[in-house]
Amino acid sequence: MMTARRPEFIDALTGIVGAGQVLSDPDCLEAYGHDEFSLKDIRRSPDLAVRPRTAAEVAAVLKLANEHGVPVTPRGGATGLCGGCVPAAGGIVLSLERMKGIVIDPANQMAEAEAGVTLIEFEKAVDEAGFNFPPHPGEESAMIGGMIVTNAGGSRAVKYGVIRNYVRGLEVVTAAGDILNLGGKLIKSSTGYSLMHLFIGSEGTLGVVTKAVIQLRAKPALTRSLVIPFETLDAAVETVPEIFRRDIVPLALEFVPLDVIRLTEAHLQRTWPSHDGETHLFVILDAASEDEMDRLSESVAEAALERGALDVFIADTAAKQDNVLAIRSRMYEALKAETIEILDVCVPRAEIPGHVKRVSEIAAKYGVWLPTFGHAGDGNVHTHLMKARYENGRFVPVPEAEWRAALEPVRAEIYADGMARGGVISGEHGIGLVKKPYLAMSLSPAQVELMRGIKRVFDPRGILNPGKIFD
Ligand SMILES: Cc1cc2nc3c(=O)[nH]c(=O)nc-3n(C[C@H](O)[C@H](O)[C@H](O)COP(=O)(O)OP(=O)(O)OC[C@H]3O[C@@H](n4cnc5c(N)ncnc54)[C@H](O)[C@@H]3O)c2cc1C
Repeated sequence: MMTARRPEFIDALTGIVGAGQVLSDPDCLEAYGHDEFSLKDIRRSPDLAVRPRTAAEVAAVLKLANEHGVPVTPRGGATGLCGGCVPAAGGIVLSLERMKGIVIDPANQMAEAEAGVTLIEFEKAVDEAGFNFPPHPGEESAMIGGMIVTNAGGSRAVKYGVIRNYVRGLEVVTAAGDILNLGGKLIKSSTGYSLMHLFIGSEGTLGVVTKAVIQLRAKPALTRSLVIPFETLDAAVETVPEIFRRDIVPLALEFVPLDVIRLTEAHLQRTWPSHDGETHLFVILDAASEDEMDRLSESVAEAALERGALDVFIADTAAKQDNVLAIRSRMYEALKAETIEILDVCVPRAEIPGHVKRVSEIAAKYGVWLPTFGHAGDGNVHTHLMKARYENGRFVPVPEAEWRAALEPVRAEIYADGMARGGVISGEHGIGLVKKPYLAMSLSPAQVELMRGIKRVFDPRGILNPGKIFD
């Protein structure tokens, strides 16, 4: 592959995207060399960062890069947690940050959004048009393109699915610089292979998403949150199947340990409604009427109390809901300074207690703190690999040599347990760079070989996000 820094190559790129949109100053490039994965070890500045405004510009950049064999790493909001947008092979970072168009089509109940629209911008536009978009990865600066190619989920996936369930059409630019229009404002298509679905979850290795057609929903009339403390994790998580047996699908159904609640309260200076027990269920319900909401809340409370819940706290005003939601959604922030990595193993939901228990055993074996919480409703468990312990209400740093020595075996043992329970190593964050060494634990050699074959068809010169998912 040739170096991207040659003046004539930079001139050609500038001719495509305009002056000021090809960055080559090392100080600017550093910002394009990482995502939210904490360790600096994987960071790498690109040779150039290029900021196109249109699909035609993206196509021309890719055509040029392909001709010259220059690696191109697409970049959205860089909120990824596994080094996906890090330009591991150098070359160009193709930032979609200037592609911000949104058009709402109320008649079809769909939106067309360009790749660089952030989740917060998208939600605002959708809300103003009177609609709702349920997928919600916890970091709202994620962009539409990045969310689609990581098949983002979030806590509402239990009721309303992941982003794959909302993508109806994609505009994608191939490595060769062709613009494909896949799907459309359609509910159905049985017209050949669904190439569109191949791009969803492809982590920028098959093409660059420039625009998407996204299905919207009607706004939920009412939401209500319940906080339910339990003496033990088992009692909390064993309540989950009982809720579903009553034909209730909550908007979100999370389990959180009390120590993480406490440290987030301290971080935010807010108060959670209860400090009882060891593990709490956090349930959000949506319903069309007050009567329906009362029926659902009572049924969830009954199921929980039958399973030994210590109490049931209902947040039924906007202020109470905002408070508990703020604490739940900012747990990452409270842990962040001491977090090395957030895992996102997904197991069948009945396996959560067994998996979390195994995580505690692994924590004890290696003498590390592994705060674990997540989506009890869909089996997606977030174990946090930490470089500190939490003792007597404060972080106690672990020497670097110690946490580094534990990192690989802890990851591998947690993944092995998740796999043994019929799970996968990533439920929503993707594989990127960081989970690549473990992919073979999750997929058979035949599956990986098929994936490599697909990669070769879409990107024969291997310029698109090289070094990600598999080598
Ligand atoms: C606090 C926090 C909470 C989070 N919570 C969740 C959660 O609940 N659920 C969840 O699913 N994720 C979660 N995430 C992870 C992250 O937000 C998602 O993976 C998100 O979808 C990434 O979007 P992005 O735009 O930031 O992508 P980036 O990080 O920029 O890129 C991710 C991957 O997509 C590729 N890419 C980006 N844009 C394009 C494009 N237009 N075309 C082709 N390839 C592209 C990149 O090359 C890279 O491989 C969380 C992250 C943080 C920091």
